[in-house]
Amino acid sequence: MYDRHLNKASTRCYLLPRAMASGTALVYDEEMTRYKLLWVDPACKVEVPERLTACVAALQEQGLAQRCVAPPVRPATEEDILLAHSEQYLEAVKRTPLMTLEELCPTQHTEVCHVTKPALAVWLQNIYHCAKLAIGATLQLVDRVMTGQVRNGMALVRPPGHHSQRSAANGFCVFNNVAIAALYAKKRFNIKRVLIVDWDVHHGQGLQYCFEEDPSVLYFSWHRYEHQSFWPNLRDSDYHSVGKGPGAGFNINLPWNQVGMDNSDYLSAFFHVLLPVAYEFNPELVLVSAGFDSGIGDPEGLMRATPDVFAHLTHLLTSLAGGKLCAVLEGGYNLTCLAQSVCQTVQTLLGDPAPRPSGLSGPCESALESIQCVRAVHRQYWGCLKHTERDLVSSPPLLLPLHPPAAGEGDGSSLGETQHRAQQQEGGGGDGLSPCLARLPPDRTQDRRRWRTGEGGGVLQALGHVRALLDKICRKEVQNGLAVVADVSVAVAYALQRAVTSLTNRVLLVFLGDGEVPVEVTEEGKVLVFQICSKEPRDRKSKYHIPVCLRKQGGDGAAGFLHAVLSLLLPLGYGYDPGLVLTAVGTESGVGQALWAQLTSLLQGLAQGHTLALMQQGCGEGTLRATACSLLGGPAPAVGPLGAPAPENVREVERQRERLQGQWGLLRTAGPAEGSSAAH
Ligand SMILES: [Zn+2]
Repeated sequence: MYDRHLNKASTRCYLLPRAMASGTALVYDEEMTRYKLLWVDPACKVEVPERLTACVAALQEQGLAQRCVAPPVRPATEEDILLAHSEQYLEAVKRTPLMTLEELCPTQHTEVCHVTKPALAVWLQNIYHCAKLAIGATLQLVDRVMTGQVRNGMALVRPPGHHSQRSAANGFCVFNNVAIAALYAKKRFNIKRVLIVDWDVHHGQGLQYCFEEDPSVLYFSWHRYEHQSFWPNLRDSDYHSVGKGPGAGFNINLPWNQVGMDNSDYLSAFFHVLLPVAYEFNPELVLVSAGFDSGIGDPEGLMRATPDVFAHLTHLLTSLAGGKLCAVLEGGYNLTCLAQSVCQTVQTLLGDPAPRPSGLSGPCESALESIQCVRAVHRQYWGCLKHTERDLVSSPPLLLPLHPPAAGEGDGSSLGETQHRAQQQEGGGGDGLSPCLARLPPDRTQDRRRWRTGEGGGVLQALGHVRALLDKICRKEVQNGLAVVADVSVAVAYALQRAVTSLTNRVLLVFLGDGEVPVEVTEEGKVLVFQICSKEPRDRKSKYHIPVCLRKQGGDGAAGFLHAVLSLLLPLGYGYDPGLVLTAVGTESGVGQALWAQLTSLLQGLAQGHTLALMQQGCGEGTLRATACSLLGGPAPAVGPLGAPAPENVREVERQRERLQGQWGLLRTAGPAEGSSAAH
């Protein structure tokens, strides 16, 4: 039945954008290992120089450091430091190198440079020097990213910074590296909106205090809190501290009131709090206070999130601010978890696909309670959280599990061999004359942003291309692909049939448009269809067919579309854990190229980046270009100020969340549900 479409393939030529920033910076200087803190309290002896050397060794061992640009580190100037600190404090810290060990000894000085109790530390003479390097490394990274020399990067620094305040050191922190970075970026590059994401397990109260009256810096922190019983034991760390005066709404605290939070809890916080607000905020730069004491095995955090989750958190943030992201090390005291998590973060910044998420059953009741409180208290400030009054209503009990792992879906093939094959085939790529493009799988030594054109580069048959692309994805010769087809419905049906028989038993189909879903969606769940449409389909074939009817795109439609993607599609996708993501867009989907690029980019976090985009011939050069750019790993262009989604679109998303959350735990935002027990 497909033969009649075979000869309708387009042979248009796509010029891929060349000007986008690429590359990842890794900023580090081993000088920053040359101080030690001598703590009176043995529990505080975890902040050791080996934290840095373990990370660097792991990055080198995995070949990641070699793929990064390594700018030299410069010491911060006094002008840099004074951006966030008082002159009096700077002078106090400057005196430490001149002090003798006896003068610094805690038996004589219970506070050194206003180190707050119980931080009875002795700073060896080198700490001022190292603290200046930590700031300088951070600012070097900001410079490289903001000037487009690299797309993103990470600064591995000691001492950390997020507890440090205007006139006081705190915790292990001397100067507030990330606060200075935000102020520096605003001043030097004249940017108006900076997002700081603090995923360290401690509350960065220094960051909060620095920006709580400043609406140009949105600060998000989750932290172990346990109803104020965990350090720094501040009431200010609770969810009701939303910022002050003009900064009200721009300080988001998500307190964890239990230990043991895991990947589901962290991702839920991103889906239902951080990402919707961040898109509405529309930052020009993302700074991550990247502490990894929130990872499993850490003696400080006692959380259970695995290193993999940091790949996903990083990936989800790279869709913001045109990909301009600077991660700056904060805490992390289990050297194994720390090093692995840093590797996951850097690998994702380099553009490699994140590992497949697994075991995401949904957040625990305590996490839900926290998420619910944060959403409620910020509802008055953010359009995306308005009209979500059902958060305050008890939700049905969580039903688990969703799916057993798919047999035979693991990465069993020899990556080295497939890479070798792919490299052998690169020669005849040509100028992209084929309607079928594919991205090569991750390669640690090659420029991975080259594409291979489809077979032969001539007039080829559309469905033949689709088949060839799927086969290449199956053999791991390519990571993803794009095909322009004469009839997108036919191509979708064909691709799904082929995928479920030869590639995976779980395909996520994201279908944009009002057309009939061109496939039998059964209760088996081999295919999950997420359809964004403008009118209710005549029949919903299965619980695996999820139509979301949004008011026509345009105007505030973009906000509604993104709201549906962040609050519904991503939680569903992560819960479903597909082996392949298939996206299909017709000519009249009404979705602009920026939104389509965002969608494509966000979905790359699933299925190890295995995505096939099917696009209707005539859907527009801009949309094709944006899709190709996103599949190549390029930053999705910012969608601009979104404003609030239309109330009816928010209500539609809420209606679907309520309907589906019994089956899909990651959709939940409220708790505790009556009669249900904590998931962990
Ligand atoms: Zn910490």
